[in-house]
Amino acid sequence: MTLTALPTFRTQAFIDGRFVDAAAGETFATENPATGEVIARVQAGGAEDIDRAVAAARRSFEDGRWSRLAPAARKQVLLGFADVIEANAEELATLDSLEGGKPITDTREVDVPETVKTLRWYAEAIDKVFDAVAPTGPEALGLIVREPIGVVGAVVPWNFPLLMAMWKIAPALASGNSMVVKPSRLTSLSAIRLAELAAEAGVPDGVLNVVPGPGGAAGAALGRHMDVDKVTFTGSTEVGRLFLQYASESNLKEVTLELGGKSPAVVLASPPDMDLVVEQVLFGALMNMGENCSQGSRLIVHRSVQDELVSRLADGLAAWPVGDPMEPSTRIGPMIEKPHLEKVMGYIDRGRSEGARVVSGGSRILEDSGGYFVAPTIFDGVTNDMTIAREEIFGPVLSTIPFETEEEGIRLANETAYGLAASVFTTDLDAAFRVARALRAGTVGVNAYSEGDITTPFGGFKQSGFGGRDKGLEALEQYTEKKTIWVTLRT
Ligand code: NAD
Repeated sequence: MTLTALPTFRTQAFIDGRFVDAAAGETFATENPATGEVIARVQAGGAEDIDRAVAAARRSFEDGRWSRLAPAARKQVLLGFADVIEANAEELATLDSLEGGKPITDTREVDVPETVKTLRWYAEAIDKVFDAVAPTGPEALGLIVREPIGVVGAVVPWNFPLLMAMWKIAPALASGNSMVVKPSRLTSLSAIRLAELAAEAGVPDGVLNVVPGPGGAAGAALGRHMDVDKVTFTGSTEVGRLFLQYASESNLKEVTLELGGKSPAVVLASPPDMDLVVEQVLFGALMNMGENCSQGSRLIVHRSVQDELVSRLADGLAAWPVGDPMEPSTRIGPMIEKPHLEKVMGYIDRGRSEGARVVSGGSRILEDSGGYFVAPTIFDGVTNDMTIAREEIFGPVLSTIPFETEEEGIRLANETAYGLAASVFTTDLDAAFRVARALRAGTVGVNAYSEGDITTPFGGFKQSGFGGRDKGLEALEQYTEKKTIWVTLRT
């Protein structure tokens, strides 16, 4: 542990500019998955707390304290918010590492800087996007204007607590909406602190509310709320489906879903430098412990390079030390919680029993720490009908699936219910574009594992997503309604 002091934990809901306890007076424990120890008890928000937060958001939206500010004015406040986050970067990085088990080097160098970058990007964008004028004749002026939707609920996961929240908060607030954010029960602390920092930066009361709580209570209440205009969700496909149900059974609120994945890394017979392939395939598979929606979890590799690549990947694991997330040299921390560790180990056992070969890893490690560590695991001899090739494991597990022809490689890559991301590795330019176009995924990396950057839209084909995209100017579509103003001109 390199910290001199632990941050103070904010554990209450933040509603209408103030910290408040949950109405039912209940709390839940949040723990450090590297040790199994309880870090804090957090207020367990439920339907009543969501009601209070939605009412505060609605008031702030209707009186225009934020929604009717000029975009340039909102921009100034949001840029100040980004500065405040940056000034508290170490604290926020520590919260996500302690609660999420994420390596501190990642939270310092990726999560927090990307969170700041996301906020600045939307703040900077919002006074530079224009609405449209329809190509009418002289008898009319047709204005197509975008307006904020109103009250937006955001329900977010535990794997990138701060960043996933900011992918929603930045475009929603920049567009003039008011929000209620429901973080994962497993990682509430950074989101609560974020709301406090927003207030410090001058985001008006009621505009950004955060209600921690269990998904089935606080999350469902937001999904079913009659006065929430939109829910934006990131999480599992299973829970994502519920939000469509909640919307259909309540007020038909708009819903955007960013869901799970089973992303392929396709290595053709003409790979680029093998060191690069090894580095990128391992990065795609192991980054954030494999607890990553766009994880490159299936290595679809041409038979001619399979043996060499698999053996070099196994050697490459030396560059991925597992251990205490607070140790700067650690690249793989623990699984988020014990049930998830058991789920990941269950998949590894299933892979073995269905006939795949463990090349490396395959076991729980560092058990004495009390934490939930899994050795990075490479399977060879996997076929697409095996459970480990079909289901999202969400752990440091890579499955190797060989192919003979490019068509077969593409077919295997696309033979999945998901379609979030993919990558293709080759020195053949024609093949790179052919395969990139043929892959059914929202983001395709060429000769690298990639999620693009903040300028590019991110989201899934098939069961990886629904209703819109995060990131890029496309995300602004999620948080605005289009209105036609038709002016009849007497000529
Ligand atoms: P999850 O679906 O279990 O939980 C996500 C959120 O939904 C949490 O806030 C949770 O409390 C809430 N929730 C749970 N049950 C609920 C219910 N019955 N009603 C309403 N809300 C409920 O997902 P997770 O385990 O937190 O995150 C991992 C998943 O997120 C993976 O499947 C991963 O692929 C996905 N993910 C997707 C993206 C993307 O951009 N596509 C990014 C990160 C993570």
